Amino acid sequence: MSSIVQRLRTEMLARDTGKDVLLQGADYRTLREYNHLLVLNSVRLQGPAARVALAQQTGLSKTTVSSIIDQLLQDSLVTEGDFIDAPATGGRRPILVHFNEDLGLVLGIEVGYTSLTLITTNLTGQVKSVWNEPFDFTTPPHTCLAMLSAAIRIFMARSELQWDHILGIGVGISAPIDSRTRSILFPLGEHSWEGIDIAATLSQQFEVPVYVDNNANLAAVSEGRYGVGVPFSDFVYITINQGIGCGLIRNQQIYRGAMGAAGEIGHLQLLDDGPLCICGKRGCLETLANNSAIIADASLGKSLARVAPKARVSPQLADTEDLDINDVIHAAEAGDMSARLALQQAGRYIGAAVAMMINILNPEVVILEGATVRTGRYLLEAVQEESARHTLPVIWPATKMITGQLGDLAVALGAATVVIDAAFALTPSAPLADYP
Ligand SMILES: [Zn+2]
Repeated sequence: MSSIVQRLRTEMLARDTGKDVLLQGADYRTLREYNHLLVLNSVRLQGPAARVALAQQTGLSKTTVSSIIDQLLQDSLVTEGDFIDAPATGGRRPILVHFNEDLGLVLGIEVGYTSLTLITTNLTGQVKSVWNEPFDFTTPPHTCLAMLSAAIRIFMARSELQWDHILGIGVGISAPIDSRTRSILFPLGEHSWEGIDIAATLSQQFEVPVYVDNNANLAAVSEGRYGVGVPFSDFVYITINQGIGCGLIRNQQIYRGAMGAAGEIGHLQLLDDGPLCICGKRGCLETLANNSAIIADASLGKSLARVAPKARVSPQLADTEDLDINDVIHAAEAGDMSARLALQQAGRYIGAAVAMMINILNPEVVILEGATVRTGRYLLEAVQEESARHTLPVIWPATKMITGQLGDLAVALGAATVVIDAAFALTPSAPLADYP
């Protein structure tokens, strides 16, 4: 096993369980180690740089940076190669220091309502392998976790991966996660997840660090790190599928709130007497504008009946039992009035909720993701019009609304990214002033 992957894993597990473990070799809790991470993270996040540039980026002296780089080279955490193209101003040309992104791999997983996505990435989040399979998240928790473990084992075997090379596992789940207990805050189906620490269960089985978070939070991390969110440090990310979720990024970090339930936009109650929601209330946004609601509206012609009481739903939508959201989107684009009105109605509900988020949080940008915003225009246009109508006039012109870029891999990639960030987290617990 790569000794450095092992060392990072031990450190992550120790920090995760709150155990006070003194590691062999480097002690991550001193300023010396903090400085190592400062230099390493500079190369990891800002790209290859010469030693002198790293001294400028970190504020450390050139001598300190040089001795740190020597140590990082010994640990294989960085490599040196490639000269800078610019002509040197005398003396030898500086060599670039690179983060060794292929030192280990990370497993990123999205647990959706009906499907699993498993990916591996290297340590800069480059996707190396992808696997999808059907899943049923409404089964009892222990069945769910057993199916998830089995899928992980099969994925590892199929991809010919060794656990020795895996730094950790990140899991994104389509439900709010209690950040204190790492369990699901309320059930997706009829089964309670209370007391089930998903991360600990998987970590014990596979003997690697495991991080669990809400799917929208992790997709927001992805878009912020690799996608359309890169230029922004404060944004709201909203995913519209079977669930309607939201990730809040404040100062480039996930904002979770006291319990982990911050940003639950899908459970904003818009109608007192609306349909019953999985959270126990009635008329939540999710029940009014998720994919099932749109499909039902389009095929039953509910919005159509309000506009044109005598109009009939077209046979292609009315008589199909296994209609999916893409059928509705394509029908709308092809001119079907019932499909178009259903998407517009859902868009207006979402727009009203988005305006509340904008008024409260004043983000730089709102990123929207989901089949209904990725393809077709009707839902997105309605979201824009309705949120413009409800947002404070002084804020609206300064708020951008864009669609996500990373699509189906966003959650799994965010899950992998959280593991990588945990491995290189700058969290010294010793006072920094004690460095000689
Ligand atoms: Zn609800």
